[in-house]
Amino acid sequence: MLTMGPRGTKDILPKDIANWRYIENVIRDTCRLFDYEEIRTPIFEHTELFLRGIGSTTDVVEKEMYTFTDRGDRSITLRPENTAAVVRSYLENKLYAETVPSKLFYIGPMFRYDRPQAGRYRQFHQFGVEAIGAASPMIDAEVILLAVQILNTLGLKDLTLQLNSVGCPTCRKAYRDRLQAFLEEKKEGLCEDCRSRFDRNPMRILDCKNEKCQALTVGAPEIADCLCDDCQTHFTAVQQILTAAEVSFILNPRLVRGLDYYTKTAFEVQYAPLGAQSAVCGGGRYDGLVEECGGKPTPGIGFAIGIERVLLALEKQDLLPKNEPSLDAFVMLLQKGAEVEGMKVVTALRKNGFSAEIDFAGRSLKAQMKQANRQNARYSILLGEDEIKNNIVTIKNMQTGEQKQGTIEDMLTSMKSED
Ligand code: AMP
Repeated sequence: MLTMGPRGTKDILPKDIANWRYIENVIRDTCRLFDYEEIRTPIFEHTELFLRGIGSTTDVVEKEMYTFTDRGDRSITLRPENTAAVVRSYLENKLYAETVPSKLFYIGPMFRYDRPQAGRYRQFHQFGVEAIGAASPMIDAEVILLAVQILNTLGLKDLTLQLNSVGCPTCRKAYRDRLQAFLEEKKEGLCEDCRSRFDRNPMRILDCKNEKCQALTVGAPEIADCLCDDCQTHFTAVQQILTAAEVSFILNPRLVRGLDYYTKTAFEVQYAPLGAQSAVCGGGRYDGLVEECGGKPTPGIGFAIGIERVLLALEKQDLLPKNEPSLDAFVMLLQKGAEVEGMKVVTALRKNGFSAEIDFAGRSLKAQMKQANRQNARYSILLGEDEIKNNIVTIKNMQTGEQKQGTIEDMLTSMKSED
């Protein structure tokens, strides 16, 4: 037990960190190009926020939240997603009084009591954006273009962007009635979850992964046929902007997303080779959310990308950069009692901006050389009996094999001149 982390969690080891940084850098650079600013909200929030902000009929709220009572008797939940928390922060900090729309992004861990498998974890990481305060289809297109540009910059191929409109509460009411009428006589054949969704959230039946439910919904009415004029115009405009930007997409009338607060545009980016976990990015408009969270009616749109899934896709396509270790200098101690002098040398190197490592384990020259090579050290600095006695070091260029002797100052000057 003590030597194993909780199920569904994963350590990100030093060898993996460069890959994470790489993705995070592409994200941050692209967000800067699109003028989205970073926000960092707490990892836990009042449970009520997620009940309201995600919707109590969703799987996330019903089955997947890490909820506990804290010592002050408050119900607290580890964030299962971050949109509700960003909206809470937007309201609490009156971000609406600054630039409109608020264009925000976050990167961080999320927690869901999911069934762990490849690409599905209980602690996972999302990068997401929220654009709050604009109703224009331009911003729907912008957030989609941002997601696409990040995935393209990473070099990912074979992704499909799926697009739908889930309408507004008005047109959804008409659609809901038509869908319920269609499903009424098939109800008994649906899975248990879908039978309970029938009254509460019938659109989600279209999203069910159960094969029987999928078969029973073949030929179901499509939301596209029920959109009101406003929703239809909005949806057409989003498609026009994406087409003009040469972004290809497919319309998927079954894309309803799991969460209740979505309105109008819904989208997902899929990478089919990830199988059941093929969704890399999911997002959409949530014009009802800010009001639900206690603010004035305010439109908003956002998405979240699962970073672990992006990593899996990059791995599959062999797109991860080759991360070679690198070190400017490795200080080798060839003489017992050279420790103090050795630490003086590494300290001088580090103070002068050179990365430096030293042997801490009293190993043989061969073992130290092996480590210097493994770390791709550019120089090795040797400290033997002579060097200690004469207060000098021997500096060896690991590439050319060239060796010279001098003071610490000489060593620094020589390394700087070859930089
Ligand atoms: P959602 O918040 O459910 O729309 O998810 C947005 C994205 O987060 C998905 O497209 C996935 O890439 C990722 N994601 C969601 N749940 C998990 C999970 N349990 N493990 C890993 N990634 C996840």
